Amino acid sequence: MSDCIFCKIANGEIPSATLYEDEKFRVILDLGPATKGHALILPKNHASNLYELPDDVAAASMVLAKKMAIKLKEGLGCDGLNLVQNNGEAAGQTVHHFHIHMIPRYKQDHAGITWKPGTLTQEDRDDILRKVK
Ligand code: AMP
Ligand code: ZN
Repeated sequence: MSDCIFCKIANGEIPSATLYEDEKFRVILDLGPATKGHALILPKNHASNLYELPDDVAAASMVLAKKMAIKLKEGLGCDGLNLVQNNGEAAGQTVHHFHIHMIPRYKQDHAGITWKPGTLTQEDRDDILRKVK
């Protein structure tokens, strides 16, 4: 994708604060961090979102997320860590090149990565099971 900014960053055409790189991935610091150490896992090959991601890249992404989680925890001494992965504008995706947010969490960081729990009604439960299972 010639006009994709994350393709350019992942492949080194645009410089970035790189925490890790191999043949398939680059891990960079987010320029608008939610907390100290907020990083992004970027595959070097373009996929717009999770739906398009090849299975081998999906699998390798989670193995890399585990490796980076340990590095972030040991390096920064964070108290927790969220993985966030947005697909589609309704979900908050702004850059349409698959990426995983790694957000180190610190006690009382007020990063606000949360939602207000609703209620699973019997009607929704039955509807979802019928449509998705
Ligand atoms: P999303 O909303 O899931 O698509 O996340 C996009 C993320 O990319 C945001 O957290 C931005 O702060 C981050 N971002 C956008 N452009 C850059 C860039 N050039 N370098 C680093 N991070 C970026
Ligand atoms: Zn791309």
